[in-house]
Amino acid sequence: MGALEPGYISLYQSGELKRRSEALESRLGSCDICPRECGVNRLEGERGFCHSAHLPIVSAVCAHHGEEPAISGNRGSGTIFFGNCNMRCVYCQNYQISQSRRRQQSREMDFPALAGRMLYLQDELGCHNINLVSPSHFVPQLVRAVLEAVPMGLHLPLLYNTSGYDSVKSLKELDGIIDIYLPDLRYASDRWARKFSQARDYVEHARAAIREMYRQVGELVLDEAGLARRGLIVRHLILPNGLAGSQESLTWLAEEVSPGVAVSIMSQYFPAHRASRFSSLSRKLLVSEYSEVAELLDRLGLENGWVQELGASDSYLPDFEREGHPFSPTVAA
Ligand code: SF4
Repeated sequence: MGALEPGYISLYQSGELKRRSEALESRLGSCDICPRECGVNRLEGERGFCHSAHLPIVSAVCAHHGEEPAISGNRGSGTIFFGNCNMRCVYCQNYQISQSRRRQQSREMDFPALAGRMLYLQDELGCHNINLVSPSHFVPQLVRAVLEAVPMGLHLPLLYNTSGYDSVKSLKELDGIIDIYLPDLRYASDRWARKFSQARDYVEHARAAIREMYRQVGELVLDEAGLARRGLIVRHLILPNGLAGSQESLTWLAEEVSPGVAVSIMSQYFPAHRASRFSSLSRKLLVSEYSEVAELLDRLGLENGWVQELGASDSYLPDFEREGHPFSPTVAA
């Protein structure tokens, strides 16, 4: 695999991966894994805001064909959906697994089992990468699972697919382990982040997290087949009525991170979960809201990445109660 070998393999060989895993796991004794810093003892079964204790919760595992083309390729992205979340977005499309803590508790699994799921995605489904969705509250658990999976033969790039409410201290322990970061940049206003996601100081935390991710992996690098091997892709979900602060967030990205950063604009907003209770969030996007953001990208010179077609909302809505696969056949196949 040479130069394209994921960094976690050499970290495993040097013993550094084990050291990081132990350092992270010890922090679960007074949890400060994400910016909430609840201080609960997850090793003893206590649960903080994310309702998650020591063992990882895995709510779905599948080959995902609906991610960005450089992530899904033709064989799919090997996706592991963690249960629960450290945010509470009222419009969460994954609410069936992110905000149903009692059901999710029954989906706890031990570390060898999680390592086994990674190997299943790699060896049996032939996926291009391991895509860890909503990992912010399970950073120690995912590193421990990778530690178990390397001697079993894991060699795919690891992708950290997050809402962006991450702690820089935890991210630093992932340096060299994660190959591709896929964070959301959801808001430019702490007021809306608190109101719609119960996330205090989201803007400061998400921006600091994205800077750290960029420091670690830099701009997106594709292989000869056009698949992501390394780098940062920032996702921005346009919300109705300008609530995502698209202008401010994208300007920040272009000016303070890099105009070369890959950006994935998502237009799939749908008033899922409890969003219809909020009049400002109770509809899909207007064409004018969508084109404004597309024009903004041009003006800012953000040329790398993808813009999702307007009207994509229906096919991208997951259903985690569907037998076999959470996405509709057109996205799953
Ligand atoms: S990971 Fe969970 S318990 Fe730990 S600080 Fe965040 S929300 Fe609290």
